Amino acid sequence: MKSTLIRNNIILLLSAFMLFFIIVFFSLNYFEKNNQEDLMNFVIDEVELKYNNFIGSPSDFVDAYQHDNDRRITILDENAIVIVDSHDDTVGTDKSARPEIKNLGTVYQRTSDTIDVNLLYIARKLDDNNYLRVAIPVESKQASYNSVILILVLTSAGFITIFYLGLTQLSKNLLAPWDKVKEGLKNVNEGNVQMISLNSPYPEINEIIHEINGINLSTLRHLKSIESYQIQLNEILNELKQGVMLFNKEEQLVYFNDDAKLIFNLDEDAYMKPSYYAIRDAQIRDAVTKANIEHHPSTFDSKFDGKTMEVRVFFVNAQGFNHTEATVLALFKDVTQERAIEQMKRDFFSHASHELKSPLTAIRGYAELIEHGLIKPEEVKDSSHQIVKQTETMAALVEDMLMLSRLENLKEKVYSKQDLNQKLKEVIDTQSPFAISKNINLSVQSKSIIVMCDPLDVQKLFKNLIENAIKYSDPNKKVEITLDQKEDEVVFIVKDQGYGIEPEHQQRVFERFFRVDKGRLDGGTGLGLAIVKHIALKYDGSVELTSTLSKGTKITVKLKMK
Ligand code: ADP
Repeated sequence: MKSTLIRNNIILLLSAFMLFFIIVFFSLNYFEKNNQEDLMNFVIDEVELKYNNFIGSPSDFVDAYQHDNDRRITILDENAIVIVDSHDDTVGTDKSARPEIKNLGTVYQRTSDTIDVNLLYIARKLDDNNYLRVAIPVESKQASYNSVILILVLTSAGFITIFYLGLTQLSKNLLAPWDKVKEGLKNVNEGNVQMISLNSPYPEINEIIHEINGINLSTLRHLKSIESYQIQLNEILNELKQGVMLFNKEEQLVYFNDDAKLIFNLDEDAYMKPSYYAIRDAQIRDAVTKANIEHHPSTFDSKFDGKTMEVRVFFVNAQGFNHTEATVLALFKDVTQERAIEQMKRDFFSHASHELKSPLTAIRGYAELIEHGLIKPEEVKDSSHQIVKQTETMAALVEDMLMLSRLENLKEKVYSKQDLNQKLKEVIDTQSPFAISKNINLSVQSKSIIVMCDPLDVQKLFKNLIENAIKYSDPNKKVEITLDQKEDEVVFIVKDQGYGIEPEHQQRVFERFFRVDKGRLDGGTGLGLAIVKHIALKYDGSVELTSTLSKGTKITVKLKMK
């Protein structure tokens, strides 16, 4: 722009100078011509006067006149035949065709054929009918012309130089703000938005800069809001606790959140890499392809480092076809615990229905025998007893299942002040007949402990452990029961001299429906220790089991109670 501006202005200036020269040239020419005419008329007047006053032949006149100047004097007769010529010896030449002879009184300029000099000519008819022609050289004027032209050229050159320098400075001043504008726009284009300072001396440019700054400001605001939206979105996606991945049409990874980063062990290099770079699992890659091509959603479980992930892959509507535009969304949710709970529930229901089925079948069998009169009268009592026993088993099972479900689904803890010593006594009272029947000595060490708790929890805890100790001991053994409090911790210990538990079963006894010897007739529901474990969990406590086969078992339960 700068060079164009300077070039155009210089062309304009040169054109102006050319026009100026032409006008000067023509004006000079015009004035010069007038001057020449005046001069020639003056000279010819003077020569004519001298000629008229001269006494002698024309040749003598020319000789006499020519004596002190360089003027060319020609005297021609009435037919324009040369009588005498101051610069030419050839007399008798016909000059009637010469323009100055044809148009008397008019000044002509031409190079003389005779003397080869550029001359001004004028002719006049004399009183004696001869023609007088005067010619003077014009070289003397050329020098002054040249000086004028030289002065003009030098002045013009100086003027153009000053003009060029001024124009350069002007264009610099004029273009500097435009350079700033250009730089500002370039920055916007590169996403590096900056304000342009208003320091141009031209208000028009300042107005444009002001407008650009306005655009910059709103672009900046938009960028900021997009940025904060992106940060928010990222935070939300990270809070989801799910792996989130987005793929484009070429199945390149265009986004992944922190969880996806952890699951697939990704680094920042994974960005814009093909799906196989990030995901080894062929099933997931196939799902991404399927979603991209057929827009077909997929949901399935996949194993990652011992974890179960629920994978959901689906097509997301892409408006444009920008290469970073996401077309497939893949979500990865850790469902290890969920699936384990689901499995546990399935196992629980199958166990529970199995456990309930056995007593129910027995009850039904006895009832049908009685109904069809197949039981002898003396056996009726025994059959009824069996029915009652099976019913009790079922009731105990249902009761334990309800207790477990209550502990698992507990939403709020309803506690009341309880004397644990008192609760223990009540349980021992109910278990004593059973202990006495096996001649088992129940040794109790206890003290009054008043705490806030659910009475049903402590009652179940005491009962399950004391009942097990008596149940899984041979007659004539001893069961030691200790109830103590250390700061905010209640410690309950039941130690027996019973069968003991094999090391491989010691942890499994806390599982639901797990029984070491499933064939035992006096075995319980298989839920007792599971309930104990859940109670301990409810009170932020712990259960510790030490057992030696044939020697006995010691179970220590610690509960946080105040
Ligand atoms: P159950 O109702 O069968 O007693 P529990 O959950 O209370 O169920 O106990 C699970 C299993 O643990 C029992 O079937 C038994 O085999 C074993 N067990 C529990 N307590 C003792 C103990 N004190 N001595 C030996 N074995 C025990």
